[in-house]
Amino acid sequence: MAVIIDGKKVRNEIIAQMKTEVSELNSKGVYPCLCVIIVGNDPASRVYVNNKKKACEEIGIISREYALPEETETEELLSLIDELNADDAVSGILCQMPVPGQINSRAVLERIDPSKDVDCFHPFNVGKLVRGDNVMRPCTPAGVETLLDCYGVEIEGKSCVIIGRSEIVGKPMSLLMTNRNATVTLCHSKTENLKDVTSRADILVASVGKPRFVTGDMVKEGAVVIDVGINRDENGKLCGDCIFDECEKKASMITPVPGGVGPMTISMLMRNTITAEKVRRNVAD
Ligand code: NAP
Repeated sequence: MAVIIDGKKVRNEIIAQMKTEVSELNSKGVYPCLCVIIVGNDPASRVYVNNKKKACEEIGIISREYALPEETETEELLSLIDELNADDAVSGILCQMPVPGQINSRAVLERIDPSKDVDCFHPFNVGKLVRGDNVMRPCTPAGVETLLDCYGVEIEGKSCVIIGRSEIVGKPMSLLMTNRNATVTLCHSKTENLKDVTSRADILVASVGKPRFVTGDMVKEGAVVIDVGINRDENGKLCGDCIFDECEKKASMITPVPGGVGPMTISMLMRNTITAEKVRRNVAD
């Protein structure tokens, strides 16, 4: 029987630590502040933004929301970002993706001051991640790395196979694991003999976005299986990328969906917001 990695529990512990840290920072006159920009009326984006606000409240991080209408043009959004970049009270800025089609999302992500880029999507921060001298880490991959550390999973020297090469999950995940001295294989839709590749993984990260994609026979006996997927099955029920019952039989540890990686992402965003403010104010750890 695999150990079930409890993302909610780890998340709660991290949030409690950050709450204490923010109150100590406040007593020194340091106030982390996160600005979240949302454009349009996408219901899923609204839920994500509300959850980010709630997490800020829980920890004591100041949060500001900028809700812009669906028809907003790129230039308007860029001027708002310029304002927030110049605002000394702001530690972190994020623009909830996806934005409506008329907006140049790359231009938006590249306009955010890298020191306030708490999502770590700016090419400057991606470059720092490649060099391994990043201060902040992209949120979902950082959540995975934190779970592995909290459960004492050895990373160095291990074979880590990641399925999915998106800029949000797969690619930065491969960099974090490379920087931790894992031997990384990054798979995608053109990968040949996927099962042969995944069957050699000590750590298998699934970030495909397809329910029931990872079957038990793709998992090595004793592997650690991390399911990043957040999908709906044919009955509308939340599920990951892995067939949990099959993979659990082979794995030594596995994350459930929900309750695995999902709860970690926002706490890593909070961590980056605090880090951004500490770096700006020159507060030592
Ligand atoms: P994405 O941008 O759609 O990327 C999916 C990746 O899977 C692509 O690289 C794609 O390959 C690859 N892929 C698709 N079919 C494949 C196949 N048959 N074999 C091998 N690889 C295949 O998705 P994403 O944004 O990374 O998200 C992935 C999942 O994670 C989604 O379920 C999403 O909801 C979830 N997610 C969760 C969190 C969280 O907080 N837990 C955060 C972000 C995302 P190509 O590049 O070749 O197309």
